[in-house]
Amino acid sequence: MKKVLCKNCRHFLEAPYEAPHTGCWHPDNLQVTQKDAWLDEQQKPGDHERINLRGDCAQFEQAPRKASLWERILRLGA
Ligand code: SF4
Repeated sequence: MKKVLCKNCRHFLEAPYEAPHTGCWHPDNLQVTQKDAWLDEQQKPGDHERINLRGDCAQFEQAPRKASLWERILRLGA
């Protein structure tokens, strides 16, 4: 089985730009969850290094490809 990397997973978010805490934000792996959206700041992600220690995380989902610099520049001009 091919090894998976958290940095390529759609559930891995890094602080401070993508999320308040770096980690795994898969709903099943959250350490602290809140039901209400206005309490999102209190949620804590899972420890991605521990969960994916052997590189065989079953919840891995490929993150969508980021647009290249040229694609972003061309989009601005459109
Ligand atoms: S632990 Fe699994 S679900 Fe979480 S970010 Fe890593 S690969 Fe994705």
